[in-house]
Amino acid sequence: MLQLERLFNKCSTFGCQFSKRNYRVIKVFKFGGASVKDACAVRNMSDILRAYESDNLIVVVSAMGKTTNALEKILRLSRESSAEASHVFEQLVSYHKVIAGELFRDAPNTAAPELAKLWRELWDKFQLTHLSYDEHYDQTVSYGEIISTTIISHYFQKIGMEHHHADARKLIVTNHRFRSADPDWEATSAIVNALFEQTGQKILLTQGFIGGTSDRRTTTLGREGSDFTAAILAWCLNAGEVVIWKDVPGLLNADPKRFPEARKIEKISYSEAIELAYYGATVIHPKTIKPLENKNIPLKVQSFVNPLDKPSLITSDRSADGAMSSFIVKDNQMLMTLRPRDFSLMNEWHLHHLFGVFNQLGINIHVMQASARSLSICFDFEEQRPDRIFEQLGNHYEIRYNTSLTLFTIRHYDAELADEFSKKGEVLLEQRSRTTLQLVMRITS
Ligand code: ASP
Ligand code: MG
Repeated sequence: MLQLERLFNKCSTFGCQFSKRNYRVIKVFKFGGASVKDACAVRNMSDILRAYESDNLIVVVSAMGKTTNALEKILRLSRESSAEASHVFEQLVSYHKVIAGELFRDAPNTAAPELAKLWRELWDKFQLTHLSYDEHYDQTVSYGEIISTTIISHYFQKIGMEHHHADARKLIVTNHRFRSADPDWEATSAIVNALFEQTGQKILLTQGFIGGTSDRRTTTLGREGSDFTAAILAWCLNAGEVVIWKDVPGLLNADPKRFPEARKIEKISYSEAIELAYYGATVIHPKTIKPLENKNIPLKVQSFVNPLDKPSLITSDRSADGAMSSFIVKDNQMLMTLRPRDFSLMNEWHLHHLFGVFNQLGINIHVMQASARSLSICFDFEEQRPDRIFEQLGNHYEIRYNTSLTLFTIRHYDAELADEFSKKGEVLLEQRSRTTLQLVMRITS
């Protein structure tokens, strides 16, 4: 025993943590919507879990397929009192019925009564239109994950896969910022560790994306938030690693839909992954990286289609960061140039004033450039935005803008790449650092 304790302590210092309970490695696995989108995918997930029987697994699961989008649509229709809401709702119920039907084809569907209750509950919650949009969103859209793990938990029981099904609304304690709640790290850690020690199961199954306040109101962590849930749980349990299972071979250096020649990144550092997320790469939820970096927990992005293939690895090791260029494309950009009307220079006072207004309007700036007389910013175009900016700033600034632009960001570019991309159209703004090239362009080809 003493020796094992020593091994435990020793391993912890090297970032290879073991559970105190039984000295198994704790792994946190996240399965997104695509990895549970139909019965075949759910079976595939169970096969993957079987291959890790010797580990302690925390399994974080998203809503099935495109359920979250459908729930958002039903919410919108409900709040508009549209009769179409019940139609889309019924479609979503049938989609899940087909999956459960398939999974329990040869056995009684033990999930059915619980699911029927959840669907009724959810329909009632869609009627709570007096709630603020954000709160109403969390009380309803969160059901995608709850229904997903309910089906999966019953399926696990059917196939004899021992597990504990935990309700993330009671595990992940958050503040009341509906739709982008922040976790209370200490409170969450205490609950998660107590539960982990109590349950004798090797698999702890729970929902991604959702949490709850201390007064038991459901919250969500923001779209694509399940990655963040995995990171929170890994942080709490000092896990040995986090694996995000995806339908792509790993972390890619470009969106394969746009660049068919996209390649897998074998390994990058946490900092580089944060940079990529910052510039708009959508592979990993940006909030995910920081808690893992703080505890030096490796993050793997692995294919659930070919689970034996080597994953992309994200750690503190920076040695391979510049080895490959990465390409991030953002469409539907707006480039706006503001000039003080009183012919004063673009000084600190103006910058302070302008950024205060951008912050207030929730504008997330992707590139900016100041000159003596003007400031240019590039951000996502949204219908009402130009009007709001004119309203707030039009009296003091002359404002010009262009829309329908594309922002290319190239990490670790070289002269040849810079040249190739510049030829894709008219460059309206260009910014270069040693590592990053950004081009705001009107695409012509
Ligand atoms: N189901 C949520 C979404 O689609 C959360 C997630 O999948 O990470 O955004
Ligand atoms: Mg997802």
